[in-house]
This record gives sequence, C-alpha cells and structure tokens, in this order.
Amino acid sequence: MAILTCTPVFQERLWGGRKLETSFGYSIPKGRIGECWGISAHPNGMSVIESGEFAGTTLATLWEENRELFGAYTLDEFPLLIKLLDAADDLSVQVHPNDEEAMRLEGERYGKTECWYVVEAEEGAELILGHSATTKEELSNKVENGEWDDLLRRQPVKAGDFVFVPSGTIHAIGKGIVILETQQSSDTTYRVYDFDRTDDEGKTRELHLNQAIEVTTVPDCPTLVTPTSKNVSGGTVQTLVETEEFNVYRMDVRDGFAVHPLDRFRLISVLDGEGTLDGVSLQKGDHVVVTVTNQPLQVSGSMEWIVSDRMTV
Ligand code: ZN
Repeated sequence: MAILTCTPVFQERLWGGRKLETSFGYSIPKGRIGECWGISAHPNGMSVIESGEFAGTTLATLWEENRELFGAYTLDEFPLLIKLLDAADDLSVQVHPNDEEAMRLEGERYGKTECWYVVEAEEGAELILGHSATTKEELSNKVENGEWDDLLRRQPVKAGDFVFVPSGTIHAIGKGIVILETQQSSDTTYRVYDFDRTDDEGKTRELHLNQAIEVTTVPDCPTLVTPTSKNVSGGTVQTLVETEEFNVYRMDVRDGFAVHPLDRFRLISVLDGEGTLDGVSLQKGDHVVVTVTNQPLQVSGSMEWIVSDRMTV
C-alpha cells in the first residue's frame, strides 16, 4: 500500500474565487473559495485518507502511529503542507517567521518557508516579492509612513513560473493567479499591508507590524527561479528547488515512467492529465502521499505532477 489519496479541504477566503471548480473540477462549497489544502496534517485543515487500509484516518494520526510509512524522521509533526490557491483578488502583503522565530514568538513547531508553481496567470498578473529597504530602520520608516509603492517590489508572472519564498521574505500573491504552493506545515502569517481594504462593516484586517519588521530579511531582492530540466525514461523532471525545508520537482510523466524507490515519503499533486500510478487511478486535482517503497512504481497515461519531499531529519 504505497499510495495514500488525501481528501481535499476547501477554505473560504475574502480574496478567493471559483477557479478551483472551473479549472480543477473540484466540487467546492458556495462562496469565495481561495484555498484547497491538498495534503495537510495541520489542524486548520486536516487531510483524511480516502481509501484502502487507512481509509478515514487523518494524516496527523498516521504520522504519529505509522511513522515507518514516512521514513526515519525524528520530527514530531508532519513537516509539509500542499495547497492550491485561487486569487481572484490581491492577497494581503505578508511575511512569515522561520522555525526559531515561530517557536520563540508563537510557540509553533515550524516557521513558513513556501514556494509557488504558477498554474494560471491572467494577462498582466503580478506578485509582490521582496522590498527595496537596505536597513531595518529604513524598512521600519517606510512601513510607518506607508511608502508602499517605493518599498514593495513587484514581479510579473506567467503560467509555468516558479517562485521560492523563504521565511523572512515579504510577499503577496496578486489577483488573477492560481498557484500550487509547497510550504512548511504552518499557518502563521504576519500581515504588513492590506491595501487599506475594509470589509462590509467598514473594518480593516489586523496588521502585525512589530513581528513583521522583526522577522523580515533586509536587504531582500529575490527573483524568479530558473529550473533545471532533465529527460528520463517516460518523462521529464524539472528541479524547482532543493532546500533544507523541502525539495520540489515538476514532472511530465507518461507510460514507461517509474517513481524510483526512496527511504522517505513523497507528495504528488496532479496538475493535469490522467493515468495510474502503481495501478491507482489519478486525475487532475488529485493529491497523494507516496509512502516509503523499495519497489519502483509504474506510471501509465499522461500527467503533469508537482512532487515534493523532505530530507530525513
Ligand atoms: Zn505566505
């Protein structure tokens, strides 16, 4: 039993839309649905295994009680979280703590380094990524004076782009963008700026300026990642990022492709196509955990995947 299919959890967001239904074919609740938590052991949106021997079990319980499925980790909490985001409007400008800051400031196990594969982007779509300040003092002054146009760096994006957002990097996803996000298992966000938006009752959303300034990297001028690509039997593997928190790959796979054996779990999200993996049917929008395996797992059909793992620690 190498493949655990996870039931997606949908989250309503002020900035969300309907593309998780129209583009991905999910049956989603009414309203502005901004996020699909595809694979998660976070209490704010827990994955449940859909079928097989572990049907009905949460991912957190499996991590706790059947660690051999995942690898020889000493981590007490499942480390990764996979989401699809549909930004029909701009998300607030935000920054996340690293592991040490998350523990010190919030008592949380993980900080939040994240990365985004751009699945769809409307013409002219932009992200915010990094800032122009050269010292903490300058950052603090510009935040206080609301010099946002000068401070925030804008980054145009198109489908297929990849963005690495380490903890400490100020960022925002702009309207008209759908991304697949691979992140540490954290829900801690420090909001820096919300475009002075108000809700139906005229209220603004809370900002967390002191924490944000404390955890923001200075200076910080990140750019898009240029992935490396290699052809393998039955497909193509693109390395998007390999870092301490996670490794992320984009794969085009078809008949003849095999998922090689590994001593640790992997996560697969299907962005397009359909087929099977080790005889298990997969289609666009499916998210699965591949457990530790000593046999290659064969693919049939034709699919586009985002695959991630975390080194054993
Ligand atoms: Zn974020």
